[in-house]
Amino acid sequence: MTKCVHVDRNGDNTKSYQQIVDNWLKGEVAAFPTETVYGLGADARNAEAVAKIFHAKGRPADNPLIVHIARTQQLQGFIEFVPEKAKLAMDIFWPGPLTAILPLKKGTLAPNVSAELSTVGVRMPSHLIARELLQFAGIPIAAPSANSSGKPSPTTASHVLEDLDGRIPYILDGGPSSAGLESTIVDFTVEPPALLRPGSITEEMLTSVIGEMTGAGTLKEQQAPKAPGMKYTHYAPDAPVRLANLDDPSTKGKLRDLQKQGKRIALIATNRHQALPHDEFLSLGLTDDLQVVSSQLFAALRACNKLNVDIIVAEAYPKEGLGHALMNRLEKAAGGAWL
Ligand code: AMP
Ligand code: MG
Repeated sequence: MTKCVHVDRNGDNTKSYQQIVDNWLKGEVAAFPTETVYGLGADARNAEAVAKIFHAKGRPADNPLIVHIARTQQLQGFIEFVPEKAKLAMDIFWPGPLTAILPLKKGTLAPNVSAELSTVGVRMPSHLIARELLQFAGIPIAAPSANSSGKPSPTTASHVLEDLDGRIPYILDGGPSSAGLESTIVDFTVEPPALLRPGSITEEMLTSVIGEMTGAGTLKEQQAPKAPGMKYTHYAPDAPVRLANLDDPSTKGKLRDLQKQGKRIALIATNRHQALPHDEFLSLGLTDDLQVVSSQLFAALRACNKLNVDIIVAEAYPKEGLGHALMNRLEKAAGGAWL
C-alpha cells in the first residue's frame, strides 16, 4: 500500500516533510508535487534508490532523470562548472519550470541518474511545498514524472496513485500542479544553447535573456534523437488521439461521419467548442487561456481511459508562446496524426 501524506500551503508541514526525507535517506522513493507535474523522487547520490525509480515507472535505463535542488549553492556538489548563459537563465527563471543541462562532476551523483552521460539536467522548482521539502532534505533529489512510463504525466496525487499504487511507499499530496506541462529543457553544454523540450518558460522568454538558441524546430529535422529519452513516446491514452483545428468548418462533418460509423468520440477542447458532435466532452477551460489549457491537458488525456470511447479528438492550438509546448505534448499524444 502506498501512503498518501496530505500537506497544505498554510499549515506547518514539518512532520510530513520529515517522513518523506527519512524515507529518501533510507534509500526509498517518494512522489511529491511541483509546479510542472508530480515527481517521483529519490536520493540522487544513491544508485540503488535511483534504480527503484526506474523500476517503479518501468522507465528505460537510457532515459536520464532530472535532479531537483532548493539552492544554487548545491550545484557545487555535482556540477563541473556553470556556463555563463546558464547563470543568466537561472538568475531569471529559477526557481521555476526550467531544466538546465550542465556538465556533471564525475563521481558525485549515482551514474544511473544521468544514464551514464557526462551531463545532467538540473531544476529548482518554484512550488512552495516542493521548495520547502527540498530545503528540508538538503540533498539533490533525482525525480522524473511520477507516472508509469508512456502514460500522461500526473498533475494530481490521485493520478500518481492510478499508476503507482502499491509500487511506491509514499506520496506527498499538495494539490494539483499549476503549470501542468513538464519543464522546459535547455542544454547549456553546447554553444549556442539548445532547446531540447519546450515548456511554459517559452523560447521567446529564453532568447530575450540568453540570445540565440538552436530550437526544437531544428531538432525535428534530425533523424537521431538529440536528447536522450526523446525517442520515447509519451502522453498516450488507450484510444487513438487525432488533432483537429476546431475552427475549421469541415471539422463538424468529419466528427459526424465518425459517429455515423459507430465510433464514440471524446472531444478535448475549450468550452466554446462544446456544440461540436461528441459523445464525451473533456473541458480544457472556459476560454482559450493557454495557461489553463496546459494545466488541464494531462488530466483530460488520463480521464479518457476511464470512458468508453473509440477515438479522442483534441483541439490544436497555434504554435506561439506557450502554444509550442502544448502542441509538442499533443503531437506526441496523437503520434502526429490529424483528424
Ligand atoms: P521527465 O523527468 O520524465 O520529464 O524526463 C526527463 C527528460 O529530461 C528526459 O527524458 C530527457 O529528455 C531529458 N534529460 C535529462 N537529462 C538529460 C541530459 N543529461 N541530457 C539531455 N537530456 C536530458
Ligand atoms: Mg516523464
